[in-house]
Amino acid sequence: MFEVELIDVSKRFGSVTAVDHVSLGVRKNEFYSFLGPSGCGKTTTLRIIAGFEEPDEGTLKIGQTIANDIPSYKRNVGMVFQHLALFPHMSVFDNIAFGLKMAKIGKDEIRKKVEESLDLVGLPGFGDRRIHQLSGGQQQRVGIARAMVKEPAVLLLDEPLGPLDLKIRQHMQLELKRIQKQVGTTFIYVTHDQGEALTMSDNIAVMNVGRVEQIGTPREIYDRPKTQFVANFIGETNFLNGLCEASGTFICKDLPQPVLVEAGEERTGEAVLSIRPERVGIAPDLKGLDNLYDGRVEDLVYQGSHVAVSVRVGDNLTMKIRANPSVPLKIREKTRIGWNRTDATVIRLEKDE
Ligand code: ATP
Repeated sequence: MFEVELIDVSKRFGSVTAVDHVSLGVRKNEFYSFLGPSGCGKTTTLRIIAGFEEPDEGTLKIGQTIANDIPSYKRNVGMVFQHLALFPHMSVFDNIAFGLKMAKIGKDEIRKKVEESLDLVGLPGFGDRRIHQLSGGQQQRVGIARAMVKEPAVLLLDEPLGPLDLKIRQHMQLELKRIQKQVGTTFIYVTHDQGEALTMSDNIAVMNVGRVEQIGTPREIYDRPKTQFVANFIGETNFLNGLCEASGTFICKDLPQPVLVEAGEERTGEAVLSIRPERVGIAPDLKGLDNLYDGRVEDLVYQGSHVAVSVRVGDNLTMKIRANPSVPLKIREKTRIGWNRTDATVIRLEKDE
């Protein structure tokens, strides 16, 4: 049972297909993210759910009802944007209460609801402040309180943390997740920031040029990318081109011996092997892994928590590795790298890729 469902939805603007046959389902109480680069159709998809855009094709369901023709204000859906458009001359209380006053709710009820929503977003006692007396993070909290106070079944959030500094953004990511779990509202969140999506989401739809490339939990998306685009967009990776055999060997012409991979019919054929830099072991005396290769250190960049190492293996291949700073490594010295078969993902190349 989905709270929000898109079935084969498309939206065109002139010659641009912003949303291209998208099908996905968001469950009740889920934190669901649309993740992808700028222009991939995330916002348009969100605006279709909000009722600000009409799809050219396909069906939108909210609850069990087909919502294509339901006007925006009747959808029981709230929205938080990157630019909040709070009323600067009004108090925090009046900003949050605005929609409730419009709905002609009684004064006492409004006070109770606004105070509860301020507690929820971690701003108790802030009702009398003016908007310009708040920090960026606090304003974002007011924006969330304003949307939540109307108790929507679904809250749509379009890059709401975009204007904030990195530290505050990271803190607010955890706060948003806490708020969502506390009230149980379904959140649909748009972002181009993969770290943000991985931190907060129960499920992620990765989008690229209007299409959904993969839907999965953060772990599935990161550890088992289904396409080269997903592997590349979510974090860093090494790609090896080659041919995968059903027995679980991957032949790559740049490596002196075949790579052992997880066996499976579905993986056979022309493919790309994706190996995350942090899954590759490195040490001069490395042993006990399914795949081991001799190489030479080409580059080392100390990055605090790890060292970013480039290792030349064979004539044409350089592997990126995240090494523990305690591993003794020197530029131009010989070393050995390796990984287990479960640490790499075979991505089969479709004919049109
Ligand atoms: P961003 O992260 O930059 O906001 P996005 O993934 O949310 O990008 P959309 O805003 O959905 O992408 O846009 C998808 C495509 O549709 C883009 O090519 C965009 O230029 C185009 N587009 C969006 N809205 C309109 C519009 N009103 N008129 C014409 N083209 C539009």
